[in-house]
Amino acid sequence: MDDIKSLSLSELTAVLEAAGEKKFRAAQIFEWLHKKLVTEWDEMTNIPISLRKMLAEDYFLPQLEEVTVLKSEKGDTEKFLFRLADGNIIESVLMRYDHGNSVCISSQVGCRMGCNFCASTIGGRIRDLTAGEMLEQIYHIQRHDGHRVSNVVVMGTGEPFDNFDNFCRFYELISDGKGLNISGRNITVSTCGIVPKIRELADRQYTLTLAVSLHSPTDELRRSFMPIANKYTIAEIMEACDYYFVKTGRRITFEYSLINGVNDSPECARILSGLLAGKNAHVNLIPVNPVKERNYTKTNTEGVQAFKNILEKNRINVTIRKGMGKDIDAACGQLRRSYTSNT
Ligand code: SAH
Repeated sequence: MDDIKSLSLSELTAVLEAAGEKKFRAAQIFEWLHKKLVTEWDEMTNIPISLRKMLAEDYFLPQLEEVTVLKSEKGDTEKFLFRLADGNIIESVLMRYDHGNSVCISSQVGCRMGCNFCASTIGGRIRDLTAGEMLEQIYHIQRHDGHRVSNVVVMGTGEPFDNFDNFCRFYELISDGKGLNISGRNITVSTCGIVPKIRELADRQYTLTLAVSLHSPTDELRRSFMPIANKYTIAEIMEACDYYFVKTGRRITFEYSLINGVNDSPECARILSGLLAGKNAHVNLIPVNPVKERNYTKTNTEGVQAFKNILEKNRINVTIRKGMGKDIDAACGQLRRSYTSNT
């Protein structure tokens, strides 16, 4: 069975036309799915029951069952653990900012990229999420919160470019004017650096923000904690990023998680500055979140500031990521990990 929320309006139209239905039914159903955010066929009250039944025979409506919702003390962050129809567990995070609600979604169950500071990859990749399952994380949270989701970050569990077709389908649906209509400018996708997919994304000329998890200015160091670095060099990543910028005009974000004593030396900051000099780039520094299965610790506040100062002296745009929801294990696959390893 296919996931009906993963179909574009034109695909849905083709399905209905093939079944001898009128074209306008596709627009009605699309609106129920992507604007009114229904979870049951029976909520589609202006669709004939016979048509609802026919669709239900061939398609499923992706369902997310809320397992746990944790709210941070300040109330600015809520973390959701969801059970998928096949029993797998995923997590999503709602962050409330002054400028609106932002949702961080997962793109896979688990991850096979193996970055060794990350909790999401410890049990490997179990399966890809469908586009509908990615959408439903946002739809569910918008229904739950009652306020519009205005920003989306694809930075939860999984490597979105290891599930590239579904990610693109997801992007086209979430930014569809007949759906939630979230502008590409308010969507960020983060990759550990799968070079051919950075180029493919550039060719699609979406308006979203690309974030690249660099975490190291040299290949040798990067290989010591990110297996993907054995496949693609930093030079190849930079060339793909330049191509991305030429094609889209969009500034790229480089994520850099600071790990105490590993990648936070002044020398690393200087090499990183050289790498990014003159590029339309932005560095996001993130003190690493310690994962209980690993013995990494985070760079202290002074160390983070010193690293930032060196980049700034070299005229690199840099910000330090605001830590939200630490009290609810909001970071990087940690909640799912603790749930699945205790059950
Ligand atoms: N697979 C994608 C997206 C998911 S991870 C990617 O690699 O970009 C989102 C971001 O969180 C990445 O930059 C990732 O490297 C970072 N991250 C993972 N575990 C972390 C941790 N324990 N502390 C800080 N950042 C972490």
